Amino acid sequence: VTRTLLVIGAHSADFVWRAGGVIAVATSAGGAARVLALSYGERGESGELWKEQGQTVERVKQIRHGEAERAAAALGAEFECLDLGDYPLEVDADALVAIADRIRAFAPDVVLTHTDRDPFNPDHAAAFFAVEKARALAAGAGVPSAFETVEPPELLLFEPHQAELCNFVPTTFVDITPVIEQKNAAMAEMKAQSYLHTYYSQRAEQRGNHARRSSGNTAIRYAEAFQRVTPQVVSSL
Ligand SMILES: [Zn+2]
Repeated sequence: VTRTLLVIGAHSADFVWRAGGVIAVATSAGGAARVLALSYGERGESGELWKEQGQTVERVKQIRHGEAERAAAALGAEFECLDLGDYPLEVDADALVAIADRIRAFAPDVVLTHTDRDPFNPDHAAAFFAVEKARALAAGAGVPSAFETVEPPELLLFEPHQAELCNFVPTTFVDITPVIEQKNAAMAEMKAQSYLHTYYSQRAEQRGNHARRSSGNTAIRYAEAFQRVTPQVVSSL
């Protein structure tokens, strides 16, 4: 099945850990994926880079842009950053229109973003509310509107760092076994947060275990978990 995905993260590296696998699954099947970062996470998620003496915000953004672009390329996706600033991320009316425009222009089958709560990170929930609103602005209410609309993309949430504290309950597991090398290559590009590589490799194995148990498919070694927001519409059960 050929699918188009738009992954929207608060920070430029968020997509890699949480949706790198599904991006590679979509693109390797002939689909398309785009990554939209609302900021570079230049203040809150670039700790390793700030250890360098004389470091500047502009330089950190530049490095983070390169990392994200290479990681997205390893997954077969395009990367764009709106550079709205982080910690705190503030999405004003213009930025909301910019996000809605990206959704309208790409008209993806699926939009992926953060959960609506994250006690460790003020920007992740801000991104959720912006994306939920922008998706509705781009798709209207599923009826003709005064503005150009696209077919409503499915909305799913990717897995946060500590799921049980972030209102996250997995409803969907995606088998990422065939693309795990691509995800590893993408994670390896994120040198500003290299400590997360091991964490998310372990997570993929644990979710692989859960996916095997749910499906009986013993071939699954690695999986990513998602929470569906919009109902799935199917022609039979
Ligand atoms: Zn983040």
